[in-house]
Amino acid sequence: MMPTTLSPLVRELRAALGPGQVLSEPSDLVPYECDAFTVERHVPRAVVFPRSTEEVVQVVRLCGRHGASVVPRGAGTSLAGGCLPRGEAVVVMLTRMKSVLEVNLRDRYAVVEAGVPNLALSRALAGTGFHFAPDPSSQTASTLGGNAATNAGGPHTLKYGVTVNHVLGLEAVLGDGSVLRVGPVADPGQFDWIGLLVGSEGTLAILTKLWVRLTPDPADYRTLRVVFNTVDDATGAVSDIIAQGIIPAAMELMDRGIIAAVEEAFHFGFPLDAEAILVIEIDGLTAGLDAQGRRIAEICRKWNAREILHAADAGQREALWQCRKMAVGAVGRLSPSYIIQDGVVPRTKLPHILRRIAQIGQAHGVRIVNVAHAGDGNVHPILLFDERDAREVERVHAASRELLAECIACGGSVTAEHGIGVEKLPFMSQLFAPADLAAMRRVRHAFDPSGCLNPGKLVPEGETRDG
Ligand SMILES: Cc1cc2nc3c(=O)[nH]c(=O)nc-3n(C[C@H](O)[C@H](O)[C@H](O)COP(=O)(O)OP(=O)(O)OC[C@H]3O[C@@H](n4cnc5c(N)ncnc54)[C@H](O)[C@@H]3O)c2cc1C
Repeated sequence: MMPTTLSPLVRELRAALGPGQVLSEPSDLVPYECDAFTVERHVPRAVVFPRSTEEVVQVVRLCGRHGASVVPRGAGTSLAGGCLPRGEAVVVMLTRMKSVLEVNLRDRYAVVEAGVPNLALSRALAGTGFHFAPDPSSQTASTLGGNAATNAGGPHTLKYGVTVNHVLGLEAVLGDGSVLRVGPVADPGQFDWIGLLVGSEGTLAILTKLWVRLTPDPADYRTLRVVFNTVDDATGAVSDIIAQGIIPAAMELMDRGIIAAVEEAFHFGFPLDAEAILVIEIDGLTAGLDAQGRRIAEICRKWNAREILHAADAGQREALWQCRKMAVGAVGRLSPSYIIQDGVVPRTKLPHILRRIAQIGQAHGVRIVNVAHAGDGNVHPILLFDERDAREVERVHAASRELLAECIACGGSVTAEHGIGVEKLPFMSQLFAPADLAAMRRVRHAFDPSGCLNPGKLVPEGETRDG
């Protein structure tokens, strides 16, 4: 194929970063037309791979001069279309900024570049007695910059909190190319920049460096696999455990459809006729864990648990977690395409929402299987379909809209942890009043006056004054 003529912007990007850091041939751009939300696509103008904050600054300034938008991207595991290019867009890949710059055990933080994969930090910390607590199920691929930009959760955030609770400082490039550095020592005498920038989905700044909190490894764990005959019983047990004052490190739910896929993939020995399985983990000092495990088992039995397995050793615990964390991957065995939805409801509404999800699936003729960070009230219905069938795709969208609206009706929200991206944007006006949205637009304008940073995500466009 003949190379295309380079636009002035691409020429300048190449001159600034070097030709090996810039992609602009149409065939090279195809992988960047979408992220893990595959139902919307748009080919970017170019993709760049900066290696330093200074190079990110250059890219932002050049894009600003040429009127191109800038889409930060880590591993591209966004399930909400957060990395979808819009118009003349340059995708800024942070994946070559992947160094763990410092591990400071005495002050309990690590300094990382934004493109470090979550699991790479865990590996760098192995044996130190500390870890980075947020553990999204995508942790083998997703980057710490992406985790911060989406304020990612994960199975263990029930006890340990989401990403914002573990970011102590950051370095970020704003929409005009200026660099903001905050932390790592908390200074109450200023705005909560971290609270604002973490979760901003690349719309306020490009995060280039993070100071993250290191959490001591728990002295011990107990991990249980509890089998239920009904989803209602499993979710009833979840609410009851928390209501009794026990905060497990994790309480994960898999329903019958997921159990079948996981069992076929990993042969753990899950009963295929069970309607729901909970993976419950408690951690902390060894003394007291057995008593707490017994208490949890008692509550589960009260909710008609039919089988309770206590992981016998570290190997069995590891295998259980592998099943849970690879559950979504195993879904590929069930259908050619799927959308992982993401909603949150008050924990006590879990039985209701899971019943409604099943009814909505039936009404629209869409097969839905469920994983859930149940302890947090997070539901992840996975809608199975074949994207080659346009009518089926439309039914999937209709079912998604309905089940998310139901989450709002239950007093919850349309995203538990995956972010708003483009996918959930239409729901923002149901969640927020016009004045709230106008305030968000004003904040965005302050960080990015030209509106070049990740347009069309998180905050719906409109008037900044009154919405
Ligand atoms: C199988 C699977 C399981 C998942 N499980 C979980 C889970 O348990 N918990 C959870 O929270 N999420 C989960 N996710 C969603 C996703 O992995 C998270 O949102 C993750 O934090 C995204 O990281 P990333 O590096 O892939 O970011 P991307 O997908 O590349 O980007 C996500 C968003 O962040 C912005 N962004 C990325 N990097 C930067 C940066 N350096 N500066 C500014 N903005 C940036 C992008 O513009 C985009 O808006 C899962 C996804 C998959 C596919």
